[in-house]
Amino acid sequence: MDIDDIIKQVRSYDAGADTDLIRLAYDFAKEAHRTYTRKSGQPYITHPLATAEKLAELKMDDTTIVAGLLHDVHEDTAIPLKEIEKQFGKEVARLVEGVTKLGKLKYRGVERYVESLRKMFIAMADDIRVIIIKFADRIHNLSTLSYLSRDKQLRIARETLEIYAPIANRLGMGEIRDQLEDFAFRYVDPKSYAQVAKIMNSRIKMFGDYLDKIRQKLGKELAKANVKVLDINSRQKHIYSLYKKLNRPDIKGDITKIYDVIALRVIVSSVEQCYAALGIIHQLWKPLKGRIKDYIAQPKTNGYRSIHTTVFSDKGQIIEIQIRDQAMHDEAEYGIAAHWHYAETGKSKNDVKPITKKLRWVQELAKWKKKYKNDPQYLESLKIDVLQNQILIFTPKGDVIELPEGSIPVDFAYIVHTDLGNKCTGAKINNKIRPLETTLRNGDVVEIITDKKRKGPNPDWLPFVKTQVARNRIRKARQV
Ligand code: MN
Repeated sequence: MDIDDIIKQVRSYDAGADTDLIRLAYDFAKEAHRTYTRKSGQPYITHPLATAEKLAELKMDDTTIVAGLLHDVHEDTAIPLKEIEKQFGKEVARLVEGVTKLGKLKYRGVERYVESLRKMFIAMADDIRVIIIKFADRIHNLSTLSYLSRDKQLRIARETLEIYAPIANRLGMGEIRDQLEDFAFRYVDPKSYAQVAKIMNSRIKMFGDYLDKIRQKLGKELAKANVKVLDINSRQKHIYSLYKKLNRPDIKGDITKIYDVIALRVIVSSVEQCYAALGIIHQLWKPLKGRIKDYIAQPKTNGYRSIHTTVFSDKGQIIEIQIRDQAMHDEAEYGIAAHWHYAETGKSKNDVKPITKKLRWVQELAKWKKKYKNDPQYLESLKIDVLQNQILIFTPKGDVIELPEGSIPVDFAYIVHTDLGNKCTGAKINNKIRPLETTLRNGDVVEIITDKKRKGPNPDWLPFVKTQVARNRIRKARQV
């Protein structure tokens, strides 16, 4: 893609974009990087150009595209920020400065990781577009990683898996997360990557044609029932996420237990049509019990919305089908970027709120900085409590407690109060008594049963708890 293609694409989603400024930024960057080449031997400008291309794919605004084109100018060619500000304005200069600062943080293992994350959140809290430019920059760098030394490959790939991908996930940017993870995984663990890719390819060989027939049949049936289908396609799981699932204790490497290796995805025109489509699908094929997930009524806490169902299709093959409308699809793929775009172009001004809501955790994290500086537990709590998908749990009084996915009632008790954790003997989940090791689900109402005479927590909980808070409290109580 050259700059003309990018400009064309930006115009297609934002007619009022300042394309002169985009072209000016391109010329400026090309001139500034003139004497530089990439390790691949290509002219340096190919890199900012690829970064801008990715940003246009995310439908980002003209300011972000301009900053994407200029993102390495200050760091690599010593052109002062003042000069960028003079030519392209304060906002662009501020974005370039943010990206440059992030670029200076080098991942060197655990201690530095805390510091990197801290700075990352401060930059994000200031302007979320900084991290979006950084994602685009990183994806192109990963795609040309083969030209670097093994040391550098590993550093960049590990940093991507540990820091960038979880942040993309938390921002609801599923497509970006998947790209980051698959590129990085290939370098961090080439053997496993090759194994899982092989499994995937044999699945595609085995089921590709079959799925195609099912897809056509479903399309016809939905049309017959007047469901307006915008698209039906089959999407395959990304390599890294398949790898993670294969390693889950309930799967133990058994691919036949994973129903969404290749799933059908139906995109319809409205929320009502999602439910209509679900009805048609269940008339056509029998659903598997307990596998209907309505993330429209109850979105995941990173904002993900869709309906998932798993059915016995023709010949008894089990397949997963995902149903969503176009807005849900854009949000699932591009997350915060999609919200931001809708708000910016004024298509849906009401969408400003969810952005602010999504950003609140970023603001919180940026504020923690001083308190937790150089505290290795800060790192653990970030990795475990913040960068994971969260679920919302209700107290009997209706208060909402946010917990990482996979939490158990003990985690819930400790988040509410240390004493509640230390004295708990049982739990009611949705009014039924359940073991304390039960995995909680989004929307559960949890009541903790306590015994005042109880001396302290049970160390047997340790392998089951998910939050660092609970883990620390249990360990501490054991020491006294
Ligand atoms: Mn760069």
